[in-house]
Amino acid sequence: MTAVAKKQIDTLVKVQQIEIEAAKLNAYLKKLPARISSLEQQLEEFIQSVEDDEAAIEGFNKQYRALEADVQLNLSKIQKSQEKLRSVKTNKEYQSSLKEIDDIQAANSKLEDEMLELLEKIETAEAAIKDRRQHYAEIVDESNRQKESIERDAARHEENLVELESRRVAIAAQLDAGLLKLFRQVKAKQGDLVAIVAVQDAVCQGCNMNIPPQVYNELQRCDSLKYCPSCFRIIYWQDQDERSE
Ligand SMILES: [Zn+2]
Repeated sequence: MTAVAKKQIDTLVKVQQIEIEAAKLNAYLKKLPARISSLEQQLEEFIQSVEDDEAAIEGFNKQYRALEADVQLNLSKIQKSQEKLRSVKTNKEYQSSLKEIDDIQAANSKLEDEMLELLEKIETAEAAIKDRRQHYAEIVDESNRQKESIERDAARHEENLVELESRRVAIAAQLDAGLLKLFRQVKAKQGDLVAIVAVQDAVCQGCNMNIPPQVYNELQRCDSLKYCPSCFRIIYWQDQDERSE
């Protein structure tokens, strides 16, 4: 059994705490790019929806103006036909001109119905886009503000991570190389980064199993490295006083 100083165990626990903290930071940082791209995507969809609806409204207005021009053209045709009506010589010509006027009027009435339908479409589309138009700048600003906030958050966490790493290196330098190697081996086998755990009242804090009395007695002497017989983590004795620290 390796004799292991209490101070070495304390140092190892500190290293582990830093590594767990760093892993949490890394996990948090890993999620940030997805949050940023989700924000960007939402904004893009919003802008696209406004552009699409504006384009649709513009299209309706264009159709409306085209119909309006057709109606005007028909009205001048009607006027010409009415002038012609005054100078016709035969009844046949008269009837034919009247029919011409009727036909153009019928066509115009159809065009006017289409114009009314378009006006309704424009009104509906304008109502649908009103809120988005009104809050457009706010929504774009808010999205950019959130993105910047995430980026600042990321930068802050990156700094913390660098700081943690330099602290970890400094503290780990105080450790016996053999002990650190053992710690790495145990850690590699554990899925949760926890390779060294306290034993309180003969219970392993890693797996909550009882430590056999003889191992527990030896553990309290703090003169050798012990492993939990259930989860195989490195264990150390933690008495009542230390727990309240
Ligand atoms: Zn255990």
